[in-house]
Order: sequence, then C-alpha cells, then structure tokens
Amino acid sequence: MTALKPLLDLQQIDTALLQLKHRLARLEERTNLATATTVNNGFKKELIGVNAQLAAAKKDIETLEVANHKCETSIAKYAQQLKTIIAPREAEALQNEIATATAARSANDDRELELLEVVEQFDRQQTELNNQIVKQNEIIEQATHALSAAIAQCEQSQIDLNTKRTTTSSNIDAKLIKLYDLKRNKRTTPAVADLHRATCQSCHLDLSTVELAALKKIVDGELPECPNCDCYLVV
Ligand SMILES: [Zn+2]
Repeated sequence: MTALKPLLDLQQIDTALLQLKHRLARLEERTNLATATTVNNGFKKELIGVNAQLAAAKKDIETLEVANHKCETSIAKYAQQLKTIIAPREAEALQNEIATATAARSANDDRELELLEVVEQFDRQQTELNNQIVKQNEIIEQATHALSAAIAQCEQSQIDLNTKRTTTSSNIDAKLIKLYDLKRNKRTTPAVADLHRATCQSCHLDLSTVELAALKKIVDGELPECPNCDCYLVV
C-alpha cells in the first residue's frame, strides 16, 4: 500500500504543473496589457480624427483668407474707379459691387471667427489626447514589465517542479510509473489520490463502509483503486 505514496507525490507535482500551465495561459497580466493597448489604440484613432478635422478647419481658414484678400482687392479697385466715374448709373453699379464684396468679406470674417473657435477646441482635444497617449504608454510599459515578471515566475516554478519530478520519479519503480502514466492519460482528474476520512480526493465522492473495508483487505502487490472513479488510492 505504501508503494503508492511516492506516486501520490508525483501526482501532486503533475497537478501543480498542470495548474501552472493553466495559470500561464490565463495570466491576469496578459489581459491587463491587452486592455491597456486597446485603450491606447482608441486614443490614437481619436487623435487621427481630431488631427484631420483640425487640418480641414485650418485649410478652410486659409481659403477664407484668400477669398477675403480678393474681396479687399476688388473693393480697392472699385473705390479707385469710383473716383473717375461721372455717370450716376455706372457709379451706382460700382457702389453695388463694393457693397456685395463688403458683404462677402463680412460673411467670411464671421465664418473665420467660428472656425478659429473650432480650431481652438480641436487644439485642446489634440493636447489632451496626446497627454492621454503618453500616460497610456507608461501604463503599457508597466503592464509589459508585469507580464514578463509573471511569465518568468511561472517558468521558474515550472523548472523547480520539473526538477522535483525527476527526483521523485527516480525513486519510484518504473513499472508503477508506467501504470500511473496509462491511467493518467485516460483521465483529467488525478490518477492517484488519498482518502480524507471516507472521501476520495480525486472524485470527491464518499466510499461506503463496505468499500473501505474491502480496500483494507487488499493484499500486497495489488493496487487499491477507487470504486467510483477508478483512480489509485493511497489508503
Ligand atoms: Zn475516486
């Protein structure tokens, strides 16, 4: 019966190795890094949009300034012509032209003022987003370090457990290890367990008094198994 005790140690190492593999696959640090990266990508995308809108508003202002320059040139030209014209009808026509150009310039000025406010707003958004990206990059850097540290810790534990496994298995009969491997490969729950009172620690079901008594009667050389889940039992 006691022959199974070292096998139980081996099973516990294998269980720990399996848990480690699961932990490595589901590291919280990996999720944190992914979340931080997603948030930063959102900021970057938003910044691209703001930059485009800012550039468009600035371009509109430039266009308005060119248009206003044309208006001013026209007004100056008509004003000059007005000085030399005597015919009232022509003078009236020129005055109308001046009024139209002045109205256009005034409308352009109003639009430019609106656009300047828009530019100011986008400038603020741009600064804010750039600051957020700087901060987020720091968070990403920290998360990257945290993930590397967590992976390194898991890998060290894996090395330690594998060393322990080699030592433990070198003290167990090769035939017994083969039986253990055969059983282990067919199941997801532990292939070797002990009893806590009457409860099998592999399937967590209780054994009856009769079943317990039968296990105690097993002769040397035979391996006790759980009547419920078929694992080897250290009794
Ligand atoms: Zn069981």
